[in-house]
Amino acid sequence: MIAGHFGLAAGVKSVEPEAPLWALMLATAFLDVVFVPLYLLGIERIDPVPGTRGGYGQGIIHADYTHSLVGALVLAALFGLVVAIRWGRRVAVVLGAVVFSHWVLDLIVHRGDMPILPGNLGGLPRLGFGLWQVPTASAALELAIVLAGAYLYWRSARRAARDAADVHEGRAHLVAGVLLAAGLATLALDLSS
Ligand SMILES: [Zn+2]
Repeated sequence: MIAGHFGLAAGVKSVEPEAPLWALMLATAFLDVVFVPLYLLGIERIDPVPGTRGGYGQGIIHADYTHSLVGALVLAALFGLVVAIRWGRRVAVVLGAVVFSHWVLDLIVHRGDMPILPGNLGGLPRLGFGLWQVPTASAALELAIVLAGAYLYWRSARRAARDAADVHEGRAHLVAGVLLAAGLATLALDLSS
């Protein structure tokens, strides 16, 4: 799930316009951003599901720190703390929640590979509802989130621009269009991988 996370961030922008869009996009992908260096260091890894090429939704993801329940909460809190310095408490809470929303959306699609404690301490049961086992369903879910997010974003931007100059309205349409196109492109890339 990549496109779905960005769709959600676009939707949140419509209810919390004070949160900068780039910060929302960074927040929604933050667990995966932290995953990258850990992946390169060999601490976290992705194994293809046995008998598959490891394409869209065909991975067992051992992101045992970034995608553990407690790890995600810690990363969300850290993100919120840094944000609070600059944009205040309300935006910090929203952005922290967006960071954690990544874990919730991943929980729907991951195949029971998300631990509760970092490093799967104590060997507790791993979580994940495994919607990736039905790629059409998970792709449809991502598409729905992208469309809903782009629509909400466009609607609120248009409302905000109603009293402002036409140039702003044009910009809102443009940004919503770019968001939608980017979301769809990400999903298409994801599916074809
Ligand atoms: Zn993830």
